[in-house]
Amino acid sequence: MDYKDYITVVEDYPQEGVRFKDITTLMQNGDVYKKAMDDMTAFASNQKIDVVVGPEARGFVVGCPIAYALGKGFVPVRKKGKLPRETVDVDYGLEYGKDSLSIHKDAIKPGQNVLITDDLLATGGTVNATVKLVEELGGRVAGLAFMIELKYLNGRENLEQYDIFSLVEFS
Ligand code: 5GP
Repeated sequence: MDYKDYITVVEDYPQEGVRFKDITTLMQNGDVYKKAMDDMTAFASNQKIDVVVGPEARGFVVGCPIAYALGKGFVPVRKKGKLPRETVDVDYGLEYGKDSLSIHKDAIKPGQNVLITDDLLATGGTVNATVKLVEELGGRVAGLAFMIELKYLNGRENLEQYDIFSLVEFS
């Protein structure tokens, strides 16, 4: 079974020249979604994880099933203004302009081992911002797990000190 057979490449979305990797076609298939989550959980099982963290929204789609399978908690990272209690925030650069991500201040205890999840690693901007939030709270990033890695965008370059797992690579 090749996960790529279940990921739809959408041309010119969300803008011309972009080949968007649509994971909804993978998620629609229960057997394949389950196997994907099992494979990612197997990576996480080796990392002595205390808690799973994922940025909205597709980081939830990946992170929650893994947290459930590990019997660990899940912590959401959200766009600024969406979390109801006291937060720590970080600005990060987008292709055009910038955005902010937030995490609840009490979500991670100092010294906890954290797995960060997202559906896709592109430039690494989103995961780098998530790493900053986790480390600001004193968490130790034990691993980064993605369904998809776009090798041609070199997201790994700024993440050399971390253990990175991806199910599928596009080059
Ligand atoms: P990065 O911050 O690494 O440049 O981009 C990764 C983030 O953007 C992830 O949160 C991911 O959900 C989203 N993203 C960027 N490109 C794609 C894509 O082609 N497919 C999907 N599913 N998400 C993408």
